[in-house]
Amino acid sequence: MPSPVCVTGASGFIASWIVKTLLEAGVTVHGTVRDTAREDRTRPLEALAEGTPGTLELFDADLLEPGSFGPAVAGCEAVIHCASPFFVAGVRDGQKQLVEPALRGTRHLLDAVEETSTVKRVVVTSSVVAVYGDAKDIEDMPADVFTEEHWNRTSSPSHQPYSYSKTVAERAAWERAEDQDRWDLVTILPSFVLGPSLTGRLDGTSTDTVLQLLDGRMKSGAPDLRFGMVDVRDVARAHVEAIRRGQASGRYIVSAESRSFPDLAVVLREKYGDRFPIPKSVVPKPMLYVLAPFVGFSWKFVRRNVGIDVRFDNGRSQRELGISYRPVREALLDQAERLIELGAVRTE
Ligand code: NDP
Repeated sequence: MPSPVCVTGASGFIASWIVKTLLEAGVTVHGTVRDTAREDRTRPLEALAEGTPGTLELFDADLLEPGSFGPAVAGCEAVIHCASPFFVAGVRDGQKQLVEPALRGTRHLLDAVEETSTVKRVVVTSSVVAVYGDAKDIEDMPADVFTEEHWNRTSSPSHQPYSYSKTVAERAAWERAEDQDRWDLVTILPSFVLGPSLTGRLDGTSTDTVLQLLDGRMKSGAPDLRFGMVDVRDVARAHVEAIRRGQASGRYIVSAESRSFPDLAVVLREKYGDRFPIPKSVVPKPMLYVLAPFVGFSWKFVRRNVGIDVRFDNGRSQRELGISYRPVREALLDQAERLIELGAVRTE
């Protein structure tokens, strides 16, 4: 296993699981956080290191600041670039809030990699949204399934700006990788990530989405939006395997099963019954056209996504990274239990 390994955005939902998995494997981890003076960000990470054979060192780094990743990357054999803004609702300026930090951050990180002769492999956390923009794009796929061969061509800074940010950032990483031959690039493309939070943070999109299903914000009904879904522990494992397995190469879709929000609500209701205000119905599509502008989504988004199935080919990740996927049900229920334990959900 390479060591040290730099993990950017270490205090995030996915990255904290990557840090934990590396520490348990005895790796020295150089984790970057935006502000090491914030103990609410650093303490949970330091707690992860206790009792493991690994060592954790934390560094300040901001995606928008040129040169800020240099100290964290120094001396590393591998780098996992996970930091990137992730939110989809209520975007005011997609270019500024999402595209610039994602793209400039990736370039700044790779500037540091180019100046660090010890780095042999870079793993970038991309997303399945770098493969497709809207669910309706599936109609253009030859076998009605999204694979690593496809690139998102339907998103822009004004339509699905988060998806666009991930697409341009991943493309920029591949362009830089192809310009040289000292380090190689592997990209991990998770679908929607579920599972227990290690840090107790409630502000991430993955955590907040499940919270919405439990805390009453979707009480009047769940939209029929369908996504690939995957457990955060499998996503972390895929990143670690991508640095551990020298022969890993290219892009890997990491997705267990496709499910809708109403499907998730059914699983939660089976377990919790009426204990929480979990949605019991599906919001009709015409109603979503009315509601969309009030919750920060466009009619185009509703038209091209609601009620449309998506399918992903996860074969490469199983064959080449050795991932055997946990069921989405387990990821969801473990996440819900963690939210209850954290006191984030009220009882009806
Ligand atoms: P989180 O919001 O929990 O983590 C995002 C991380 O990015 C945080 O550590 C955050 O730092 C960091 N970050 C954001 N802006 C900046 C900035 N300007 N400078 C430095 N760091 C910054 O999200 P996830 O863990 O869910 O996402 C992690 C990665 O995985 C992202 O690249 C995301 O696009 C990708 N992804 C996520 C999926 C999901 O469903 N969760 C699915 C597919 C891909 P801070 O801790 O200071 O807030």
